Amino acid sequence: MPHICRDCKRTFNTELELELHRDTCDAGELFCDECGERFAERRATEDGWHYRCPSDDCDGEGIGDDIHQVSNVRLETATK
Ligand SMILES: [Zn+2]
Ligand SMILES: [Zn+2]
Repeated sequence: MPHICRDCKRTFNTELELELHRDTCDAGELFCDECGERFAERRATEDGWHYRCPSDDCDGEGIGDDIHQVSNVRLETATK
């Protein structure tokens, strides 16, 4: 059974390959309102609770605040 990246839809033969890809996937799950940067969820949070923009010169933080989920935005626009 193939492992599929839910962001960019690339498929991988093993879970490990997918895991490695997830670190570098540039499809990005989150974006920051402050600087417009896109980044993977794991780059913005360590505990899945507190989110911070990974850009050095940006102090955007807070999921649903400065940081939003790209997939939610896509879904919202797709259903309209
Ligand atoms: Zn990906
Ligand atoms: Zn930012």
